[in-house]
Formats: sequence, C-alpha cells, structure tokens
Amino acid sequence: MAFIKNQHQPERLIYGVGTSLKQWQQSETLNQLPVCDVARTFPAKQRVLIIAPHPDDEILGCAGLIQKLAKLKREVVLVAITNGTMSHPNSSYYTPEMLNQIRPQESLQALKMLDLDIHIERIALNIMDGQITNHTDLLYQALQNITRPDDILITTYEMDGHPDHEVAGQVVKYFAQQHELFCYRVFIWAWHWAEPDHPSLNLEQCFKIELDWAEVEQKRRAITCFQSQCVADPSTDQAPILSLFTIERILQPFEVYCYG
Ligand SMILES: [Zn+2]
Repeated sequence: MAFIKNQHQPERLIYGVGTSLKQWQQSETLNQLPVCDVARTFPAKQRVLIIAPHPDDEILGCAGLIQKLAKLKREVVLVAITNGTMSHPNSSYYTPEMLNQIRPQESLQALKMLDLDIHIERIALNIMDGQITNHTDLLYQALQNITRPDDILITTYEMDGHPDHEVAGQVVKYFAQQHELFCYRVFIWAWHWAEPDHPSLNLEQCFKIELDWAEVEQKRRAITCFQSQCVADPSTDQAPILSLFTIERILQPFEVYCYG
C-alpha cells in the first residue's frame, strides 16, 4: 500500500523499563487533556469497531472504553488482526501453534472478566503476527468488507512504538479518512517509549476517557487473563511481556486516544 511509509524510528523502540508512571503523573500536558464525553462521542446506533493488532490490545488499550460502551448498550465489535503467535520467539514453552490457540482464548476470557451486559462479536482476520506491515492490503480489504457507513473505528496509535501497532494505526486512520469515518487511536506502548512532552507524541490532538475506580479494577482483573503475557518463559528466560511497570502505566485512571 503506497501510502504506508516505514516510519518506525529507533527512538520508539520498546526496551528497558520505560518512562515512569511518576513522569506521566507530573505531566501538565497530560493532566490538562480534554475529557471525552463518551455518550456524545459514541452515539446510539453507531457501532464501535475495536481493531486490535494482538489479542490483549483491546483490553490494555480499551477495557475502560468498552465498559462504558456496554453500560450505554452500544454495539461493539472486536476485530482481531492477528492471533499474536510471535510473542515468544524460540520458545518451547509457548510455541506459535500453542499461542494460536491460547491467545484468542485469553482475549475471550478477559472480555468475560469485564462482566459486560452486551455481547461482543469477535471477527478474526488471521493476519500473521509481526507481518501486518506486509499485509496492509489485506487489512484494508477486510475493513472494506466489515465496516458500515457510520461505524466508529478504534485502533492502536500510529506512533505507539510497536511496529504492528503503528501500521495498524496508519492503515485504519487512512481507511477512515477515505470513508469519512471517525477513528480514534489509543496509547499502549507509547506510555513506555515516550516522554510526556516528546514532539512526536501529538498530545495536543488527544482526549482522555476517565475511568472510575471500579472500571480500573475490572480492567486489572481482565489483564490477569493474559497469562501468556504476564509470566516469564522458563524455556528462554524471557521476562514477562507485560511487566509490572507496563501494567501500572496501563492502569492509570484514564485511557488516551488520538483523534488528529
Ligand atoms: Zn499489541
């Protein structure tokens, strides 16, 4: 797809413990972000498509939003781009074949853990994990097949740091522009790589969705369902993908979405 440039820069690599929660808490820019009125931004009768690169992004990014949409009885569809089979390279503990089964199951359990009053349809695109950048046409075509004219699209931020997240953000944003749909992209790994006033972060074009204590606790419980991501791998000594630092940043009492 010609519009996709490989913009992924080394500055956004995910390594180490990342930016501290305290740094984020002290950010004036973040503290002053406008607060989204969910009922107005996501009107009745408009479906919301949560387009997740990997099984867990829908919860890490959007568990708060999903709970609010469920309370408003909105229709929510989860579009799973990949099954997350490449999270444990060279592992004999979690092989790609096992992850292909385990990770979608974890996603279903996590949604169940949110204890929602609505049913969320799940559509799996089965694009190869780590390869979204090579299959942007497939993703675009799938969106063409799935979306309706007034859907609202949610996906990962195009500067999120993980290559799959960035390319998903770019393709979905471009698709939304072409079809005049609203599209919001959520921070997940941006909390890790970025510092609050990093010029690439574009916080000026973001809003936050505020979560109450109960919503944060439900999100915390849902995250525990991603066992494959929360435990160390004894066969490779790989540390948990979701470190305590990552989870603590994700469990701030709001979610941040870019609309620009
Ligand atoms: Zn992901």
